[in-house]
Amino acid sequence: MEVLKYLAGYPTHVQARVHELIDQGRLGDLLANKYGQAHTVRSDSQLRDYVQAIKDRHLRKSVPLAKVIYDSKLQVMKHALGTHTTISRLQGNKLKASREIRIATVFRDAPAEFLRMIVVHELAHLKESEHNKSFYQLCTHMEPGYHQLEFDLRLYLTQREIAPP
Ligand SMILES: [Zn+2]
Repeated sequence: MEVLKYLAGYPTHVQARVHELIDQGRLGDLLANKYGQAHTVRSDSQLRDYVQAIKDRHLRKSVPLAKVIYDSKLQVMKHALGTHTTISRLQGNKLKASREIRIATVFRDAPAEFLRMIVVHELAHLKESEHNKSFYQLCTHMEPGYHQLEFDLRLYLTQREIAPP
């Protein structure tokens, strides 16, 4: 069975089920029915407001956001679903970290739920750099459906490669 790169970390029976959906030509419809809602976060400044609003609600006290942008050079998988850069700069006598969040451009046209999921993922990295248990607890705190959304996002990216938009 060919390995599905976006689902490489999942058990074989899960991958087999996805292969079945692909072979039956059903994956695209299934996703379109479940995630039909587009979003209106088109520009970098809209993205910034969107990210800031979620941060204000859940992570008000964590480091300030330096910059929030869509980045067309980002590859979703290579950068583990997004990227998180720490920029240290000198402020007064203290070295302060501010954070930059870059979101792969593919999310600009993705359903609303996937943008939210990736933003929650990147925000959780403000507090946890590793993908560990407390990282995922933060993600599910901000978005209770996080795990299902991350799985479905992987299906979405798989489908996008089979049938590019
Ligand atoms: Zn990550």
